[in-house]
Amino acid sequence: MRYADTKEPVITLTSGPVNAYSEVLRALSRTVLYDYDPAFQAFYEAVVDKAQRAMRLSTRPVILHGEPVLGLEAAAASLIAESDTVLNLASGVYGKGFGYWAKRYTPNLLEIETPYDEAIDPQAVKDMLATHPEITVVSVCHHDTPSGTINPIDEIGALVAAHGAYLIVDAVSSFGGMRTHPEDCQADLYITGPNKCLGAPPGLTLAGVSPRAWDKMKSNPLAPRASMLSILDWETAWSRDKPFPFTPSVAEVNGLDAALDLYLNEGPEAVWERHALTARATRAGALATGLALWPKHEAIASPTTTAIRTPDGVDEAALRREARARYGVVFSSGRGETLGRLTRIGHMGPTAQPIYAIAAIAALGGALRALGHAADTGAGLEAAMAVIDAAA
Ligand SMILES: *Cc1c(COP(=O)(O)O)cnc(C)c1O
Repeated sequence: MRYADTKEPVITLTSGPVNAYSEVLRALSRTVLYDYDPAFQAFYEAVVDKAQRAMRLSTRPVILHGEPVLGLEAAAASLIAESDTVLNLASGVYGKGFGYWAKRYTPNLLEIETPYDEAIDPQAVKDMLATHPEITVVSVCHHDTPSGTINPIDEIGALVAAHGAYLIVDAVSSFGGMRTHPEDCQADLYITGPNKCLGAPPGLTLAGVSPRAWDKMKSNPLAPRASMLSILDWETAWSRDKPFPFTPSVAEVNGLDAALDLYLNEGPEAVWERHALTARATRAGALATGLALWPKHEAIASPTTTAIRTPDGVDEAALRREARARYGVVFSSGRGETLGRLTRIGHMGPTAQPIYAIAAIAALGGALRALGHAADTGAGLEAAMAVIDAAA
C-alpha cells in the first residue's frame, strides 16, 4: 500500500513543528476574546504566570507574537549595540545563523565554529574570553536542531557570567524536552517557543529576560520600539492593567495555555524522562539496524531529536519519501550544511513516547531496504524494545 503525498501522513516524527497535543488543538478552538476584554487581560496575565513557572524564572517572561525566529531576531536587534563585541558560538546551522543577525547590529563579531557533528568546548570559550576582554555579548544555540547536538550551556553560561558579558541563548528546541531553564545557564535573553517540545503550533515566542538585559535594551538607542521586532514594547503587557502594544495572537495564546497546563501537570521531570527514553530507544535501534548517529559522540546527542547519518550511496530525500509512501511516517531532513547528510527523528511533545521509536526504526529500516541498502531492522527493533522494557 502507498500513502499519497497529497493526503495527511499517519505519524509525523519531525523535529518541529510537531503535531500538537489534542488538548492544545481543543484549546485553539476556544472563543477568540477581544484583547481588551477584562476576561482576556486576566487570562493573559495568568498565562504569563504559567510560563514563568514552567521556565522557573524569578522574573516575568515575555510572549512575542510570532514563531521563535521572531524572538531570536528581536534578541539580536534589542540587546546588541554597535559598540558591543559579540562572541557567537556556532556548532550548527542555527548557531551560525545567529551570527548573521548579530553582524547586522555590530561590526565586532568573533566566532568559535566547530564541525557540525560536534559541540562547543567550554575550554575554547574560556580561552576566547581570556584573550578578548572586549567581548560584551555571547550567543549560543543550546540544541542545534539540524545536527541533533546539545551544547553545554550551563557551563558556558557560568564562564560568560564570570566574564561579565551578556548571554543570548536559543533554547527553542530543547526547553520543555530536557532540563534547561534561563537561570540555570544565567541567560540574559533566553528564547524558546511552544512549537517544539511543548507540543503547540508555531506562532509565539517565549523569552526569558534578565533584569540587566532590560536595562541594557533600554539604554540601547537603536533597540526597536513600536516594532514587531521590539521586546521593550512588551515589558508591561503581562499586566491586566496595562495595554498591549498591538493585538496579541489570541488563539495561539489559548493553545499555549493548554500546552503549559499539560507540561506543569504531568510534571517537567516526567516530561523530560519520556523525551530521554524515546531518544535512547531510537539511538539503540538505529545503531543495531546498522546505522551511525550524526553526533560524533553519543554524549552530545539530543534527547529531543535523533539525527542519523545518511549511509554512503543512499539518497536521503528518497529515503524520507519512501518512509512516507510505504508507512505514512514523516521524518525531518537536515538543513543547510547538514541537508542530504542526515535524517532526523523528532521526539518532541506528543511524539516523545517510546513506542514512536519502534515506528521510526521500522519505517527507516524498511525504507532503506526498499532503496536496496542493507538494514537489520529486526535487530534494530529488538534493541529499541530492550531499552523501553528496561525502563518499564
Ligand atoms: C525550530 C527552531 C527555531 C525556530 O525556527 P523555525 O524552524 O522557523 O521554527 C530556532 N532555533 C532552533 C534551534 C530551532 O530548532
